[in-house]
Order: sequence, then C-alpha cells, then structure tokens
Amino acid sequence: MAWRYALLLAPAASDDARTDFSGTFTPIDPSAPALSVGELSTQRGDGIFESIGVVDGHAQEVSAHLERLAHSARLCDLPVPNLGQWEQAVAAAASECPAGECVIKLILSRGVEHGPTPTAWVTVAEAADNTRARRDGIRVVLLDRGYDSGAPERAPWLLLGAKTLSYATNMAAIREAHRRDADDAVFVTSDGVLLEGPTSSLVLRQGDRFVTPAPGAGILHGTTQLSLFAHLAERGFETDYATLGVDALREADAAWLVSSVRLAAGVTSVDGARLPYDAGFTAELNAYLLSPRD
Ligand code: PLP
Repeated sequence: MAWRYALLLAPAASDDARTDFSGTFTPIDPSAPALSVGELSTQRGDGIFESIGVVDGHAQEVSAHLERLAHSARLCDLPVPNLGQWEQAVAAAASECPAGECVIKLILSRGVEHGPTPTAWVTVAEAADNTRARRDGIRVVLLDRGYDSGAPERAPWLLLGAKTLSYATNMAAIREAHRRDADDAVFVTSDGVLLEGPTSSLVLRQGDRFVTPAPGAGILHGTTQLSLFAHLAERGFETDYATLGVDALREADAAWLVSSVRLAAGVTSVDGARLPYDAGFTAELNAYLLSPRD
C-alpha cells in the first residue's frame, strides 16, 4: 500500500464549539516513525478506527463513518470524538487524494500507557485494485465465530458492535478462507446465525427483497450496506434486517459482501457450492457505490 499523507490530531473535546479546528491537526511524514513505543493501539489493539473510501477526491459517506466512530468510542469508553474536528481532518486528507480510488483511515487509540490523552491520526493511501472482486465475484466459506447469538447481550465487553483495532482474528479468518481455496469468509454464530464478513457486511437477495443480518447480532452496522439499502429502496426494492440462518445464504437468489473500499463483491460460491451470480446487477450496484455519496 502506498501511503500518501498523514495527519496527527490533538483530540478536541466533543463539546468544543470551535468552528475552525485546522490548528489541531498537523501533517506528518507518512513514511516516518510517528507513534510512541508506549502506544496502547500497538501494544493491545486498544482503540477504534474507520476506513473511508475516496473516489476522485470525494470522501464517501463521511457522516455515517463519523457517527460509527462515535458509537465505537462510546462502546469502548473512549472520549467521544469531536465530529466537527474529524470532519475537517477528513476534508484535509481528501484534498491530498489523487484521482482514482483512495482510502482514508481514522484511528483513535486509548493513547500512550499512563498518558493523559488518546492518540488520534488520519492516513491516506491509494486503494488496492478491487476490479476483479467487483467484476468476477468472490468464493466464500462459512466460518464459526466461536460464540452463540446471545453473546453480544451476555458479554458486552466483547465490544462486538465496535470497530476496534483488534482485527487479528478477522485477518486469521481471511487466511483460513484462503487455505480452504476461497477468497473470503462469512462468520456464523455457533448456533448457526449469519453475521458478516471479516471486513464486510453480508447482503442477500430473495426475489425483490434484499436482507442483511440485524446489527444487534453483534456485528458492525456497515455504512456501505446502509447506503446500498437506501439506493435499492429508491429503486423500488424491499429492504430488511433479519435474523438469518445459514440456509438463507445457501438458498439466496444472490449475495454480496459489501464494504467501503472493495464495494460490492458478489458471492459466487459458498463452501464450494455455486450460488447464482448476476454480473450485470453487481456492476450497477458498484456504479452507484462509485458515484459521489454523502
Ligand atoms: N463488518 C466488518 C467486520 C468490517 O470490518 C467492515 C468494514 O471494514 C464492515 C462490516 C463493512 O463496513 P463499511 O461498509 O462501513 O465499510
């Protein structure tokens, strides 16, 4: 990944009413060391993040990402971010994006061990080329998440609805999918409820109805899925959240894993069994997702 730009933020309080926060963030060399060895983000993965897709300099769905950052902060007992400050930092970062597709990452960590404040930074990098997944689709395998569907309520300290920096298990799931000759994974609870991909939301098509696992199930509420559902509803389709068993995926008329940077990747097979794949419709969804969205 080619890092283009980075900003270090001095986090402002959520009730700081300033209108100009430009003095609170500083550009730093994206290829030089920047974090203290005492950083809890690197020591413990103790922090939260967002990845925002940027298309030809336009950062997509910024408000939805900032709202989710604030939601994650609340779940993790981190100081609630000042969204005005982050919005201005995102605008500064987007202005550094070249034509084509980039990714802006927002990171808010608990800070340096025993330190007084959280650490916050923003990076800009060129996005990977996702043409193939968007055009040809992806093969997925179902992987047991290792907990049942009651876990989010029973054990809120698992932080299941937060986008935390602790993604080692998500990355391990993708490696396991590769070992099983697939491209990606779909997590399932130990009692057989569909969840999400390790870095994406699951959307199923059932006739003219589009359905996705309900966010209360301990998954992230995807900004791409939200945006896609608004678009599909505008086109006259029914959209819904539901508790879905694994057969709902195996019997779907189509399925996609959707996320901010890869966008819509159609599922072509589940555990080696083929699933109907509509390349034309997927191309339409990606054309929408690549258009400027706020
Ligand atoms: N679920 C998980 C676990 C993710 O990591 C992501 C994105 O990274 C998503 C869902 C999709 O979220 P979004 O559409 O906001 O990128």
